[in-house]
Amino acid sequence: MKTIKIPAITLSILVLVSGFTEAKAPVGIVIHGGAGTIERSQMSAEQQQQYEATLTDAVNKGYQLLAAGGTSLDAVIAAVTLLEDSPLFNAGKGAVYTWDETHELDAAIMTGQDRKAGAVASVSNVKNPILLARAVMEHSEHVMLTGKGAEQFADTQQLELVENSYFNTEFRYEALKRAKQAKQALPHQAAVLTDPNWKMGTVGAVAIDSQGNLAAATSTGGMTAKRWGRIGDVPVIGAGNFADNSSCAVSGTGHGEYFIRYNVASDICARVKYQGKTAATAAGEVMRELLAVGGTGGVIVVDPKGELSWAFNTPGMYRAKRNAAGTVVEIFGNQNEKTSN
Ligand code: ASP
Repeated sequence: MKTIKIPAITLSILVLVSGFTEAKAPVGIVIHGGAGTIERSQMSAEQQQQYEATLTDAVNKGYQLLAAGGTSLDAVIAAVTLLEDSPLFNAGKGAVYTWDETHELDAAIMTGQDRKAGAVASVSNVKNPILLARAVMEHSEHVMLTGKGAEQFADTQQLELVENSYFNTEFRYEALKRAKQAKQALPHQAAVLTDPNWKMGTVGAVAIDSQGNLAAATSTGGMTAKRWGRIGDVPVIGAGNFADNSSCAVSGTGHGEYFIRYNVASDICARVKYQGKTAATAAGEVMRELLAVGGTGGVIVVDPKGELSWAFNTPGMYRAKRNAAGTVVEIFGNQNEKTSN
């Protein structure tokens, strides 16, 4: 019998290489562009087409990276950056106005294999806040930076800086005027939410890569007419953004004060981890319970098996997902999922 000798060094390289390329999970990505009063009757066919086209571009961009063996971190960053650059969503270019007619942006990123996180709050001159959140995670010893300090750090990170007026858009300015009128009429209530034209539009992405690693990214301009340096749920790790390989990754959108108080993103993952629930069941439960106490919004979720899901308690949520089974892009509630390959 002839034996073939493989030198030990070659063997260990082979093991290393196969360990590196072994796909532990099917890759997939889910994105959102905000939840709120989004109804078919209030949207023209042209507007619908614009939203769907941008969501499709973003989910495809993330998926292509994953399919080529890229990391979930790079995939969620790619999708969120594209949505930040679109004026359609309340993040980056399309950020809402503060009470003082400026823009203050929040963003967060988290990776599930090591629970590293980076977050920025109230930044006013960084074109893509999600890139700054990533820089905080990768190039600082901190997790969350705010305001002027975050901007000083951005200055050291070769990130594109812009004038605050870069974020100006006419339709968000109109929304501010309506929100101010509503708030003046009902100063102690979240009156903006009673405006039927009010649409939230935070953006987010969660993904799983071929190594089975989860990541979550979320970026927002916050709530229209926010005051006094208000910071929402997005940069609060565990509230609007969370990733942990042992349970799930979540990106949220909605009334941030409730997401903070109910620790929405990490509560969903805790139910998966400690109660053995599926991510979809846990997300549905948490969104129902949130609505019962007055909190509106939605979440997107991915679990370590690659299940992609979403849940929202508002009339609609801009959303899309893609995995080997195909692509789904939806805006309104109660849509029958149609998967296109
Ligand atoms: N959650 C965001 C915030 O409260 C707003 C949104 O999702 O639209 O800042």
